Amino acid sequence: MITTFYKELDAGVLEALKCSQCGAVSFPPDHACTVCDFPTLEPITISGAGELQVYCLLPEAKAAGEVWLEEGRTAWAPVEGVDTENTWQGNAELPLPVEAAIRWDGTEGTVVFRLMASTLDG
Ligand SMILES: [Zn+2]
Repeated sequence: MITTFYKELDAGVLEALKCSQCGAVSFPPDHACTVCDFPTLEPITISGAGELQVYCLLPEAKAAGEVWLEEGRTAWAPVEGVDTENTWQGNAELPLPVEAAIRWDGTEGTVVFRLMASTLDG
């Protein structure tokens, strides 16, 4: 499932795994729940739409945040389009809608969540 994940993503299909124990969504799919580590996960298709609840700054001015998908919460994931210079101000404006996207670095894809209406560029 994990190996086909990016092919499916390319085709516009977002596959994720939902934890049978806590209901958290592992996206991209992982071998166990990214929140509680429970090994029994159920494959689901997700819309990719969600809300960014909180984020923080990582090295190299990248950001990661906690996204609540329509299908359930996820573990922390990379986010784009947020204010990386004033994270206090940026967090004060949350929650805001985000959508899943893929950032290609050569042939390697990383799932990121992008703010749908960036308050930076507006
Ligand atoms: Zn879980």
